[in-house]
Amino acid sequence: MKIVKTKKALAECLNSFRTQGRMITLVPTMGALHTGHLSLLRLALETDNGIVVCSIFVNPTQFNDPEDLQKYPRPIEQDIALLEQVGCDVLFLPEVSEMYGEQEEWSMDLGMLDQVWEGAQRPGHFQGVTQIVYKLFEAVQPDRAIFGQKDLQQYLVIEEMVRQKGLPVQLMMAPTVRDDKGLALSSRNVRLSPTGRQQALVLNQSLRHVVEGLSRWEAGETSLQTLQREAMDLLEKAPGVHVEYFTICDRRTLLPAEENIETTNIVVLVAAWVEGVRLIDNMVVT
Ligand code: AMP
Repeated sequence: MKIVKTKKALAECLNSFRTQGRMITLVPTMGALHTGHLSLLRLALETDNGIVVCSIFVNPTQFNDPEDLQKYPRPIEQDIALLEQVGCDVLFLPEVSEMYGEQEEWSMDLGMLDQVWEGAQRPGHFQGVTQIVYKLFEAVQPDRAIFGQKDLQQYLVIEEMVRQKGLPVQLMMAPTVRDDKGLALSSRNVRLSPTGRQQALVLNQSLRHVVEGLSRWEAGETSLQTLQREAMDLLEKAPGVHVEYFTICDRRTLLPAEENIETTNIVVLVAAWVEGVRLIDNMVVT
């Protein structure tokens, strides 16, 4: 695997592949790689004769909480070993100074997507996300980029940015990878104790409560409001868990679902704190 730290070296490395007509797929990450990230890379690697670029960059502009940025895990040697094992072609590993000048302005009108759920709870987060993903797309000029469903709102925001800026990149979304008990994998999970991991399972349980209840809703035996209240009860009664939001939405807009929504358009979203770690998860009907 080739490791490059500057945009110039990256362009040199990728131009030779591009002239060979090879499809370039980018998987942007903040490192502390786990099986969820690797599933994105494996999906990228399925293309014959393609080139897979993974970026690892803990982007300061998307952290609205300085403590979260400071505590973000950075096990780079382990990440490099995992990327080698999975067969990644190029690792782009820039310093902050390579990606940002002294004072940069960035502002995009992302509409409601920037104002609900993650947008509401983490002011400025999606401005930082679009800022860095735009820079990464500029640096890599990928044909495709893959993101995880785990961060569904982030995916919708990036889709909106690509649309507004008219970028020639195809976006793909990969399903959420969970541990054997159902906890969605996240780089932040390493900060949970065994007890915290156990307590965090209620996030998955609350999402499943709604998704599994949808057949009763379709049969007219319950309402979305009731399912939401029951799930919220589960979360509020769970020891060690502080809920930020739990909502049943339209997966295309993230606006609250109306009772006449098609089941396949439903997504259930949750954000909660366990042991000072902020966790998010979501579930769609499959
Ligand atoms: P991050 O390093 O947290 O910024 O995540 C990098 C990419 O991996 C994003 O597109 C995430 O949505 C995706 N990702 C994170 N956790 C998971 C997971 N458990 N399953 C699938 N994709 C994930």
